[in-house]
Amino acid sequence: MNNDPLHPLIRNAYSVLDGQPISRETALAIAEGIHGSDLLDLISLANKVRLKFAPAVHSCSIINAKSGKCRENCKFCAQSAAHCTGIETYPVLAPETVLEAAGKVYGEGVRTFGYVTSGRGWDKPDAEFRTILDTLDLLHAKYPDMHLCVSLGILSEECVKLLAEHHVWRYNMNIQTSPARYGDLIATTHTIEQKLETIRLMKKYGISNCTGGILGLGETWADRVDMAFAIREIDVEATPLNVLLPIPGTPLEHQKPMSPAAVAKTFAIFRLVNPAKTLKFCAGRETVMKDFQGILMLSGLNSLMTGGYLTTRGRAIAQDRAFAAELEDFGVGGTLDD
Ligand code: SF4
Repeated sequence: MNNDPLHPLIRNAYSVLDGQPISRETALAIAEGIHGSDLLDLISLANKVRLKFAPAVHSCSIINAKSGKCRENCKFCAQSAAHCTGIETYPVLAPETVLEAAGKVYGEGVRTFGYVTSGRGWDKPDAEFRTILDTLDLLHAKYPDMHLCVSLGILSEECVKLLAEHHVWRYNMNIQTSPARYGDLIATTHTIEQKLETIRLMKKYGISNCTGGILGLGETWADRVDMAFAIREIDVEATPLNVLLPIPGTPLEHQKPMSPAAVAKTFAIFRLVNPAKTLKFCAGRETVMKDFQGILMLSGLNSLMTGGYLTTRGRAIAQDRAFAAELEDFGVGGTLDD
């Protein structure tokens, strides 16, 4: 008789703690076969793996430095001109406006600042791109200990090289979902291969990569597992995961929200597949997880975006800091610091 209280799939996955990589087959079996009280055992394992391989807790804040009027057709996005979302639109912000925003989060203790623009990206360093470079120089001069992260879309090698010369520490380029499903689930106006090429260029010029995606688009568990393994293969330093907030006017406006349990399970699986990487929860933390944010923090993540998102509001930085401090009693093991 088997008296082991752990589900055999979870018992098998404990080998991740000994440094054994989990197979796609096991990860998918866990995704499809673990439910109910077994899910808490999975979450506990993910937290143990996180504490062993990625103990530091990080935070970052972002600014939407150019909003809307994007010619791409990403189905989830409020900023695509292909959808009628009524979002506020504006061109690249003046450097002073960005400096002021960075100063505010710096004053609240955040040391990673993300500069994000809407749009497909840049082939050439035009006047708008030069404004971005000037802004990065000013940010670095004023806050030299702030990590500068940028998210500007698909870039040419010329533009990537310039970012490397203008103090960029990390680049965000999300693959969004399983690469094989990109055309169905995300967009048809650009390809996943173009995004992967930008990630390769970042590596070439010594810029760290932040590459993740969005959950709740209508993807299957197999798609989520495939995204986790694609990210392992690309070998990026950080993975941000968002949960879809269905936005009126987008093709996904009627998409059923993911349950908090499914979100926590997905984070736990991403942690088992990528034991030592930074795993960050971005949009959807407050709106989808609601009262379950504490469980989420024990599901293997070690990084939070704080102070709001691109097109939606989030919790205040001070509130997230107090939340992280209280979670220390559960062995989360860290405050919101870089
Ligand atoms: S995700 Fe980026 S590229 Fe896609 S529609 Fe939105 S702003 Fe444009």
